[in-house]
Amino acid sequence: MKIPSALIDSLIETKGFDKEAFEKVHQSGEQITSIRFNSQKPVDKSTIFFVENSKEVVDVYSVPWNANGYYLSLRPSFTADPLFHGGAYYVQEASSMFLEEGIRQAIDLSQPLRVLDLCAAPGGKSTLLQSAISDKSSLVSNEVIKSRVTVLSENITKWGAANVVVTNNDPKDFQRLPGYFDLIVVDAPCSGSGLFRKDPKAINEWSEQSVEMCSHRQQRILADILPALKDGGTLIYSTCSYSPSEDEEISDWLINDFELDAIQLQLKNEWNIIETTASKSKAKGYRFYPDKLKGEGFFIAAFRKKNLTDSANRESVVKGKSLRLTSKEIDVVKPWVKKWDDFFFIKQNDEVIAIPSHLENDLAMLQSALYIKKAGVKLGVIIRNELIPDHELALSNIINPMTASIEVDKLTALEYLRKQEISIDSNYKGWVLLSYQQIKLGWIKLLSNRINNYYPKEWRIINK
Ligand code: SAM
Repeated sequence: MKIPSALIDSLIETKGFDKEAFEKVHQSGEQITSIRFNSQKPVDKSTIFFVENSKEVVDVYSVPWNANGYYLSLRPSFTADPLFHGGAYYVQEASSMFLEEGIRQAIDLSQPLRVLDLCAAPGGKSTLLQSAISDKSSLVSNEVIKSRVTVLSENITKWGAANVVVTNNDPKDFQRLPGYFDLIVVDAPCSGSGLFRKDPKAINEWSEQSVEMCSHRQQRILADILPALKDGGTLIYSTCSYSPSEDEEISDWLINDFELDAIQLQLKNEWNIIETTASKSKAKGYRFYPDKLKGEGFFIAAFRKKNLTDSANRESVVKGKSLRLTSKEIDVVKPWVKKWDDFFFIKQNDEVIAIPSHLENDLAMLQSALYIKKAGVKLGVIIRNELIPDHELALSNIINPMTASIEVDKLTALEYLRKQEISIDSNYKGWVLLSYQQIKLGWIKLLSNRINNYYPKEWRIINK
């Protein structure tokens, strides 16, 4: 693997850059696999993975800077693991899991926060953010590219939380929500050099021009989104590029052009993350070099918007557009939801959606400003006073734990996920959740003469 010499030249002066070690680690081609567990869907971490056929156990060991992050000594087939489909973990590059440590240090996460993940697809940072914030907080997970919103929504659904709203908007649309967010994460589109080891083909797409183009785009995105950050709010900026013009120089530009202060983070020596200082503003940034730690190239920096006004955020109560449920309809859905009185229920195109009550005003504000792809948890449709439950409900953390469920073995779980016919020995009739290692996978309906498999067609495993 030949790293472009123009990239090497641009890094020579950068703190922590060791040309020889950097080139060597890229030549090594080592592939690192890491996952982050979903703390709301606990599983036994030590025994879940083994490589099919060889029965070889995959060692699972901690990512130093993230309590839920684990490296796997081998890459198992995630597609063939029902727990992956049930949202028990997310496959995520280890360096980027540092985001959690960054926000823990930069903002009080015990507070109810309005959080925006601006460049969110496929959802790695969003699932991390959702796990880190409190139940009383909300996360807007936005992706501008329409075709990428589907996978984002799917990953958010699997994660199971109700306090996430998925939107499909351009960064400048958020100017309709001035001073709205307490925390904005911009994991910006970049030239991608940090992922060369994972994806060597990306080297062919790299050029000095693309770095410059990315740098301009990053500035445009940040300038567009900053009005939506409240005074005193926190901005996290990250890239998977090594290029200073996408990293420290962006920090300099931010501090120069906007009312922002840089936030310094505390690092443990053994993490081997390099703290850099932007040349003009002296803003601190954090570089992840693959020759120094177990992870890919990554840059992250944190900023606080100055408190220029002492007035509270401008906001008004906006009337929601969605249809409310009648009390009779609420009676139908109540038994399906854990702590149902913590939610309000709306109906959109006949589908009933549960939204945490504390987000009522927020949802109305977001609805008036943005294109919402998904909010809360879809419960299903009511037909003749019965709920036909939705897949989102099955995977959610808000489902009533008393809902009928059947635990199956791996083989049956995989047949179910392939949307094949499954056989189950039970006299029960009606809607049943299928679970594997206590992780819910979806619905089946037990009838007197057959079992209907309700796994969504578009989600089914199609390889062998
Ligand atoms: N945060 C994601 C994660 O952890 O899974 C990865 C995000 S990726 C680095 C950058 C994202 O920015 C992509 O999903 C891309 O579609 C989106 N993007 C591209 N151009 C954009 C723009 N002009 N404004 C906002 N987002 C953009």
